[in-house]
Amino acid sequence: MSRDTILIVEDERAVARGLQYGLEREGFAVLLAETGSQALSLVERRSPELILLDIRLPDISGFDVCRRLRASGHRMPVLMLTALDEELDRVLGLELGADDYIVKPYSLREVVSRVRAQLRRAYGDLAMRPMRSRLQVGDLELDLDRLQVLKPSGTVTLTPLEFRLLHTLASEAGRPVSRERLIEAVWGYSADLGNERTVDAHVRHLRQKLEDNPADPRRLVTVRGVGYQLEL
Ligand code: CA
Repeated sequence: MSRDTILIVEDERAVARGLQYGLEREGFAVLLAETGSQALSLVERRSPELILLDIRLPDISGFDVCRRLRASGHRMPVLMLTALDEELDRVLGLELGADDYIVKPYSLREVVSRVRAQLRRAYGDLAMRPMRSRLQVGDLELDLDRLQVLKPSGTVTLTPLEFRLLHTLASEAGRPVSRERLIEAVWGYSADLGNERTVDAHVRHLRQKLEDNPADPRRLVTVRGVGYQLEL
């Protein structure tokens, strides 16, 4: 069985080594990059299954690395490493295509559990993909192969994470889904590790793409005190 390869992008050597040690001990193969441009070229050459990406790098920022990866079609899970809560706000406000965020200081145990969760989501999903690759909900049609949504005014492309969030809501269409359930279904870990702000931020991004007027959502509605619902 081949081992999953994790690319760690971090210019602080002690931090990178600590992560490398923790992940190798869990049986992962590890690649290290100290700059954004090194990371981009390693992804092209070695196709890692997952990337741990620091935001502050000496050349281009982790934000730009993530954007460029998605723009060139790479879909492996990306976990951003953020130093401060302010950075987390920025991460959540941007549409980067990252799959999850870990705020420093973190424990190795937390990193490993999030890495495993993302790998399960990304590659377990592929193995269990249903035969039917399109799903109709209301006036939206989800194309599960292309991560696109067809709506009456045109086609929009979602990030893998946005697509999982929408898919989870679509599988319960017409019923409210709690934030806790969304965290478990989309990020793959229990809600107490997760941050509900993350759910809200991604719902905002989805509304920008799906709603005719994102300020007055008609398709992806808020159910007060519960969570969110995709209308049939
Ligand atoms: Ca750094």
